[in-house]
Amino acid sequence: MRATQLLLPTVKEDPAGAESISHKLMVRAGLVRQLAAGIYVYLPAGWRVMQKIAAIIREEMNGIGCQEILMPVLNPAEIWQQSGRWSAIGDELFRLKDRKGTDMALAMTHEEVVTWLAAREVHSYKQLPQLWYHIQTKERDEARPKSGVLRTREFIMKDSYSLDASHEALQESYARHIGAYDRIFARCGVDCMMVEGDSGMMGGSVSHEYMAYAEAGEDEIVVCAECGYAANVETALAGPDRLAPASETQAAPIDITVDEVLPTPEAKTIEQVAALLGLPARAFIKALVVTVEAGGETPAGAAMVLLRGDHDLSELKLRTALGAPFRMATPDEVLAAQGIEPGYVGPLPTSLPVFADEVLRRGHYVAGANQPGHHRSGVSLAMMPQAAFFDLRTARATDPCPKCDGDLTGARVIEVGNIFQLGTKYSQPMGALFLDEAGKEQPIVMGSYGIGLARIAAAAIEQHHDAAGIVWPTSLAPFDVHLVLVRASDEVQAALAEQLYAELAASGFEVLFDDRDISPGIKFKDADLIGCPAQVVVGKRATEGLVELKPRASGERRDVATADIIMALGEVLDRT
Ligand code: ATP
Ligand code: MG
Repeated sequence: MRATQLLLPTVKEDPAGAESISHKLMVRAGLVRQLAAGIYVYLPAGWRVMQKIAAIIREEMNGIGCQEILMPVLNPAEIWQQSGRWSAIGDELFRLKDRKGTDMALAMTHEEVVTWLAAREVHSYKQLPQLWYHIQTKERDEARPKSGVLRTREFIMKDSYSLDASHEALQESYARHIGAYDRIFARCGVDCMMVEGDSGMMGGSVSHEYMAYAEAGEDEIVVCAECGYAANVETALAGPDRLAPASETQAAPIDITVDEVLPTPEAKTIEQVAALLGLPARAFIKALVVTVEAGGETPAGAAMVLLRGDHDLSELKLRTALGAPFRMATPDEVLAAQGIEPGYVGPLPTSLPVFADEVLRRGHYVAGANQPGHHRSGVSLAMMPQAAFFDLRTARATDPCPKCDGDLTGARVIEVGNIFQLGTKYSQPMGALFLDEAGKEQPIVMGSYGIGLARIAAAAIEQHHDAAGIVWPTSLAPFDVHLVLVRASDEVQAALAEQLYAELAASGFEVLFDDRDISPGIKFKDADLIGCPAQVVVGKRATEGLVELKPRASGERRDVATADIIMALGEVLDRT
């Protein structure tokens, strides 16, 4: 490709409001442009990167016997109603009506279409297992599209689906995907960790997330170096506390095992009350009132959630404990449910159902006294037979490992892939049944497996860049070689550059030829910004038949005779 003919609009300035490195560099290197919030155009260089990612994914999917198909973005609402997700999913699902007034949805994932297809085309155990995938556009009305291409409202996903005759057979399909995913991320040069996941809206029980290390990541994981336990903090099991409750150890200014109502005027938050009473946050119980939505296992209405003062609620764990969706109660709802405004809410007394974190089984605490301006010490949940205990808190990087004696460490990550054992969650309601060996009808056992292509590109940039720009892993780079003609007006240089451009292309290299008649400084800056793995600079020493070779990663320039350039490039690009 000649730069003079290529749409490669590099820019000096970071885009307004961009925080992540990948967002800044993808815009500056001329890879993408934002059309609207969370909606992007891929420019030629950006699209080349996406196609390289797609090619790697395709090879690895085909390699495990997964068959490529193409399913539509536009879906009839009917299949989403059959699966239950038409009502289970809220505003994230784009909904529309066709000209006849029929409800339609824009697919955010394709379990419904796959199950519809399986219900029609798979009838016997003899046809199983089946593995199907496509690489295609997804639409999601994300609440907060941000960070460039990391969280967009339209994005390209590779989603694959496994159909099996039994739960045991599903394990084999799942394991094959794990193998393929490990190879995909390694080939893309993205350093990843597979962690236990939350099955969220996909349903099912077992799931894993592929997390790429990056400061720009929205997710946080904890990892145990000792036993290898790794999980998203939202779902990570909370390990046992190595310290005894504050009430058993604290030489505190007040004895918090004693039941006493303490005046705490103006102090509402844990921090404020802790400072006022001279106690650590772990000496407190934080009482939250939530509004449980209808349709789940816990009856709709208000419920009280209790956590230790220094812990944070994991909304996912609470949702699982409730078996129902919920939201935080408004101040008016809190007042109506508990007779007190937020800030002084406590468990003693309450008529609400109580969901308490495990750690609160033991010890005495200070909690809201259910009186304005007062807290109460000596609160022990042993006094509350109606309290149900669950692991409800968000794990922390400072926690002990829940599985061994080791310590956890934390890391910020980007979720690049997600795999789920769906079981019969979709096949059952949608009637995707097969006849087993005994001639008995059974629901197909399914799995689903996603990878976001743009997140791989962005994670690769987050992990491979320097102050000058992107340092692409060779496998993802938009071009192998950035051929820079220093002076387009110099006939010798121009002739040699043209000759090399032709030769390199003939040898199978993808070459970006900067033949622009502009200042060399701009060309060098652009070459570093765009980040192709090898730069070949045709400058003054063209008269001697010498060019300069600069691997982008090391930055070490050296002169190479034109006769040797193909071999030297082969080494830089690891093609020997
Ligand atoms: P997240 O928790 O980040 O919203 P998710 O759990 O909703 O992700 P899945 O539904 O499992 O994601 O989708 C599979 C893959 O698709 C994700 O691992 C991610 O790589 C990608 N993906 C999901 N949502 C987006 C988005 N809004 N923009 C870009 N890629 C996305
Ligand atoms: Mg999501």
